[in-house]
Amino acid sequence: MTEPTAAASVQIVCPHCLAANRVPADRPAEKARCGACKAALFDGHPVALTEATFDRLVGRTEIPVVVDFWAPWCGPCRMMAPAFEQAAAQLQPQVRLVKVDTEANPGLAARYGIRSIPTLAVFSHGQELTRQSGAMPLPQLLRWIDAATAYA
Ligand SMILES: [Zn+2]
Repeated sequence: MTEPTAAASVQIVCPHCLAANRVPADRPAEKARCGACKAALFDGHPVALTEATFDRLVGRTEIPVVVDFWAPWCGPCRMMAPAFEQAAAQLQPQVRLVKVDTEANPGLAARYGIRSIPTLAVFSHGQELTRQSGAMPLPQLLRWIDAATAYA
């Protein structure tokens, strides 16, 4: 028997309309557009998620998702925000970076037991793989994401 020759595909959820898109795994998704709303699937920036959108994006995305649990009043969170932005610009579309404002979305903070912020968590297919609390500068953030997503 021979294996099917069709290229493997990976499911990416559109951050704008939350439609699930399948994109070829062997082709860069950088320029891929959503089949439903035609917006770019990746724009190089983290995606802000809420209680209404978290499950629909994180639960159905087949690449690793890095979540930054933060809050506007948290100084270290604001300090790390530019590094998280730069990580998104460098790592997407291999990894999806998202932000959850725990003040605006206390239900998500409670569900994941977020006790200190910032807390970074890596999800794969909706399951949390690992997390780390505390702000990280960009090089450390990139190394941590690399290690955390190596087996995702
Ligand atoms: Zn869309």
